[in-house]
Amino acid sequence: MEKKKIKKESWPAGIPDQLVGECKICGEHSYFDWQVGSKMWEQVVPKEHRFGIICLPCFDKMATEKGMDVGDALKIVYFCGKGKTIALKPVKEYLF
Ligand SMILES: [Zn+2]
Repeated sequence: MEKKKIKKESWPAGIPDQLVGECKICGEHSYFDWQVGSKMWEQVVPKEHRFGIICLPCFDKMATEKGMDVGDALKIVYFCGKGKTIALKPVKEYLF
């Protein structure tokens, strides 16, 4: 696994840190950030929340209710831990 030591003041744009924040739907603080394509984001997330944080469980619920597959759309998941962010790639989806 590639590891990069980055100074706080030069933290790259778009990479989350521990300040991920609270979900605009459920209010829970999430330590996971994630990405899907902008088209799916716009189809799933109500307009008033598109610039806010939506946790993956709330996004999954909204997408599934609309018949959309989050597993295919999910590009990357970030775990925001203490002093680190770990990028995780989805590799398999188990349906039940
Ligand atoms: Zn939520």
